[in-house]
Amino acid sequence: MIPLEINSPTETERETTETDLLLSVRNLCKFFPVFSRGFLKKQIATIKAVDQVSFDLKRGEILGLVGESGSGKTTCARTILRALQPTAGEVLFRANGKSIDLAKVPERDLKALRTKMQMIFQDPFSSLNPRMTVGAIVGEPLTIHRLAKGSEWEDRIVEMLRKVGLKPEHRQRYPHAFSGGQRQRIGIARALIMQPSLVIADEAVSALDVSVQAQVINLLKDLQNEFNLTYIFVAHDLSVVRHVCDRVAVMYAGKIVEIAPTRDLFETPRHPYTKALISAVPNPDPDIKLDFSIGGEVADPGKLPPGCSFHPRCPECFAPCKIESPELIRTEEGRQTACHLDRPQASEELP
Ligand code: SF4
Repeated sequence: MIPLEINSPTETERETTETDLLLSVRNLCKFFPVFSRGFLKKQIATIKAVDQVSFDLKRGEILGLVGESGSGKTTCARTILRALQPTAGEVLFRANGKSIDLAKVPERDLKALRTKMQMIFQDPFSSLNPRMTVGAIVGEPLTIHRLAKGSEWEDRIVEMLRKVGLKPEHRQRYPHAFSGGQRQRIGIARALIMQPSLVIADEAVSALDVSVQAQVINLLKDLQNEFNLTYIFVAHDLSVVRHVCDRVAVMYAGKIVEIAPTRDLFETPRHPYTKALISAVPNPDPDIKLDFSIGGEVADPGKLPPGCSFHPRCPECFAPCKIESPELIRTEEGRQTACHLDRPQASEELP
């Protein structure tokens, strides 16, 4: 884990206007049907991997998407990029002065939009084709989208390799000749050579050693400044998120349960699940003490309990939690929480 400082709140407290926004996700859902075995397959359940997720993302912002394994964060990221077809909802992406709903764009029109949105994967070992040279891997998107050829193609690859800290001569080699950190740099070069505006980093540093993690994170931040990138940082390691992100959205059982500026979230978490996640992370500030552990397994999205999905694990559960699912509501400036404790009348309902 990387004990690093928190972003200053002034970076995140700008007023948001329409033109500031790069992405607006509205009530996004991704459900998977579950069928019975045997000859006559019947749908017997629905896995709600992503359920009514909504958030805005400003240009140049870094949003963390966190939660335990199985919380739906990676499925959410993949659905935003249309690697998975959404079941419902809108993904409004601003490109070339227009707002485009990615959830409804026909497959044939997605290819052009994919130049604007790229993903960096967790495992640099399996995401790079071992039979291609580094130059071919990094330059492949330019070829697919017919954006460069010949000497221009070579020049752009060399320039991109330099920007991610690799050497021009590395383009002749194959991925197996590189360390884990270098392979992740190759993945970053491939993602950024198209000059995207949105980059989703899916556990991009979690497979790397701690010292290499810090180098790759610093590289991603440098590249963000240089190319004015907007990131969604999908991660389970909150110490990484704390260092990198302007805001953090916490997911549980397919829903966002809390979203807040990074400093606020870490200093004064409101949702019991957020408190539990943060109390499990060593805190660099000795004045902030949280001791809030939870047991049990993350809820099965195919068999969610009634009411609040977190209630079987929640130490603060009270009567309404077992009946009614809490909505994500604005609790204070820039913060939203989905918990009955944050409803104005909750204290009156306490038994
Ligand atoms: Fe806990 Fe109830 Fe809040 Fe759910 S709604 S997190 S069960 S207090």
